[in-house]
Amino acid sequence: TLAEIDFSKLKITKKINPTKFNDPNELPLGSISDHMVVIDYDSDFGWHDPEIIPTEDFKLDPAASVLHYAIECFEGMKAYKSKDGKSIRTFRPTENMNRLNNSSTRIALPNFNGEEVIKIMDKWLEIDSKFIPINGHVYVRPNHIGINNCFGLKGPKRSRLYIIAAQSKSALNYDNFTPLKLYSNDSKSHVRAWPGGFGNTKLGANYGPTAVAEATCIEKGFDLTLWLFGENNIVTETGGSNLFISWINDDGIKEVVTCPLSSNLILPGITRKSVIQLLNLKGEKIVEKEFTIDDLIKASKENRLLEAFACGTYFFISPIGLIRPPKGNDIKIPTKINNQWGEISKYLFDNLSEIMWGNTTNHEWCHKI
Ligand code: PLP
Repeated sequence: TLAEIDFSKLKITKKINPTKFNDPNELPLGSISDHMVVIDYDSDFGWHDPEIIPTEDFKLDPAASVLHYAIECFEGMKAYKSKDGKSIRTFRPTENMNRLNNSSTRIALPNFNGEEVIKIMDKWLEIDSKFIPINGHVYVRPNHIGINNCFGLKGPKRSRLYIIAAQSKSALNYDNFTPLKLYSNDSKSHVRAWPGGFGNTKLGANYGPTAVAEATCIEKGFDLTLWLFGENNIVTETGGSNLFISWINDDGIKEVVTCPLSSNLILPGITRKSVIQLLNLKGEKIVEKEFTIDDLIKASKENRLLEAFACGTYFFISPIGLIRPPKGNDIKIPTKINNQWGEISKYLFDNLSEIMWGNTTNHEWCHKI
């Protein structure tokens, strides 16, 4: 049997001259933490001893499969520091580890024991705890890449799992938040994911090819691309988040809808899963079903649209105020009226913030370090 990742074999090498700062909020966005986690795999041995080392550049074989065939997958997480600065939490990290294992399988990379990686991550976040702003968060990026000489497309013999943390924008403040504006392309010319494809995994190969669409969308003054699929322009997700709509349906019933996970058209977001669980507890009618851009246009014309929001690790709960369809007039959503968010977006924002930072409770979704 091949060696598994083993926390008890963790080797730690600390940076000799740690970066100096009084407050991590002073660091530019995108600054990377002083230390990183690195765990290497080879197919003869299995997983090597995990290491925490000073963050450094990699030396890679120019024929590495990550560089040629995009043998790569990743995760997006956050580490949160409480108001009193005393505790650090991650949100449902087992879910991220499971998804990284699914993505790894999809792209012929080896699996690993996620619970051991969580223990290593905890230790690493403790070492770099000063990097996390009080009452704020850092973005945590586990990455898994194929590193062997790749000629001939086959499962890589060697891979590297590494984790870095970056300063990212602080949590949204809903008093001065401008609702997002989404831009949608016609799905006949632009598709992000398709049935039988890999849109349900977090491969770099899902993101690189959307960079042109995202740049066009920003150029046109929008915040994010809304991806549509198929003849009927099914509403799927944005380039970096899942999407929820609250409306009065054709039968006159209030419900919250989101694209289903079947067909591989969307990423199974951990925030999405949590939103569904929280809204079920709240007693809202929540339906995972396909709906089209024409359904949204019709609901808008009939004044049945109530709220829309993007949700994900990066976007958290971000109300959407406008969607530009491929044809016709913009769809306006009354997500923010008199500077007040819609009831559902606000409920989720407040409850999820409380769970993530754990200022008054310690919710089972939170992993306290
Ligand atoms: N959909 C896409 C395309 C994403 O990149 C993300 C990542 O944040 C999500 C959805 C939301 O997933 P999660 O809530 O796990 O962050």
